[in-house]
Amino acid sequence: MLNLIIFGPPGSGKGTQSSNLVKRYKLVHFSTGELLREEIAKDTPVGKEAKKYIDKGLLVPDDIVIPKLYRRASKYMDSPGFVFDGFPRTIVQAEALDQMFNKRKIPISLVVSVVVEEEELYRRIMGRSEDSGRSDDSDLVARRRLEIYKEETMPLISYYKAQGKIVAINGMAPVDEVFGKISHAIDTYLETNKILAVIH
Ligand code: ADP
Repeated sequence: MLNLIIFGPPGSGKGTQSSNLVKRYKLVHFSTGELLREEIAKDTPVGKEAKKYIDKGLLVPDDIVIPKLYRRASKYMDSPGFVFDGFPRTIVQAEALDQMFNKRKIPISLVVSVVVEEEELYRRIMGRSEDSGRSDDSDLVARRRLEIYKEETMPLISYYKAQGKIVAINGMAPVDEVFGKISHAIDTYLETNKILAVIH
């Protein structure tokens, strides 16, 4: 099983790269952001609760997000693998993920960290705001999401570094070029079991 995490700040292109990875490696896509937006569109109790946080640029609490992981992932345990996109975002979520997969002896293979400069992230979020139709792609909320990323999600880099699983990819290049770098890291891992630390 190939279990990937695409890790990066809002606007780093995680969603786009995940879609490409799903096609190339036949993986199951797990995007908590998309799952939560679906709940909001259906106006479910989870959606109503999640919307309060998402619209403010805050993280949805772990006790809402983690059960979503368990439910969805346990349905696809026979698949060739997963791409986790936007999950985990806190240490508690990362521990829950490890617990779930280690128990089944299918640990996380690689954590692809897409690195993009902060002002570029902000420009991208603002640039897509008209088309995305996302209520959280507005000026102040975007800034808040970037702050929350630094405070709550960035510590995961050390968490996965300690496990020797991080590959840092320069995400400032065009989409296809970034995808080439990510594929190179994955193919190297599949062929040699080696994890490249940095790809510029
Ligand atoms: P982005 O990476 O651009 O912020 P996402 O679709 O991944 O886009 O997430 C959108 C919002 O959904 C986040 O700002 C957060 O409020 C909520 N969310 C998504 N994933 C998680 C998660 N794993 N834990 C908590 N909240 C989440």
